[in-house]
Amino acid sequence: MHTYQDEREANKLTNYRSRRRIERSGEPYGKIHKKKNSKKQIFVVHKHESRHLHYDVRLEIDGVLVSWAVPKGPSLDPQKKRLALRTDDHPIAYASFEGVIPKNEYGAGTVMVWDTGTFKNIKKKGAHTIPLKKCLKEGLLEVMLNGKKLYGGFVFIRTDQNKWLMIKMNDEFADKKGNILKKTESVKTDRSMKEIKKDG
Ligand code: MN
Repeated sequence: MHTYQDEREANKLTNYRSRRRIERSGEPYGKIHKKKNSKKQIFVVHKHESRHLHYDVRLEIDGVLVSWAVPKGPSLDPQKKRLALRTDDHPIAYASFEGVIPKNEYGAGTVMVWDTGTFKNIKKKGAHTIPLKKCLKEGLLEVMLNGKKLYGGFVFIRTDQNKWLMIKMNDEFADKKGNILKKTESVKTDRSMKEIKKDG
């Protein structure tokens, strides 16, 4: 049976590349990384001001950055279930991309590295960790983020097709009072969105 997931598997970076004119946008062409499982995976959250401001949450899974657009942005409050729309897989090299995608190009607007770090897969069955690829297929990820702004356990649950929810686990890193989105500087360059835009 041909499923939505199979389509994604076949495509990987094809969608990413076909939507862009890389030579104009300045974004990386990228490749699918092969590396040993023992290495820690990276994650990145881009703040992206295109037609609508949103946050792109990306987790390294199986050689690419599996990505979700989170309109309201991540939260450290377990009661805030954030809608996360699965978007194209991006190349690993995209993790450090920050700048301005020119007008008329796909995703035109300002892109900031709002947070980045490593993460661990903590989804287990008994004593065994369930591979991320399988978790993705089954629509339930449990990860421990170790970033500069986001940290602790997060769950990603698929509710329908490309619709997921990103929810903070109720652990010691949960924060029901603060608003992490108030930290507005780039973790890469310390710049604000305005400064990135001005620098072009
Ligand atoms: Mn985006």
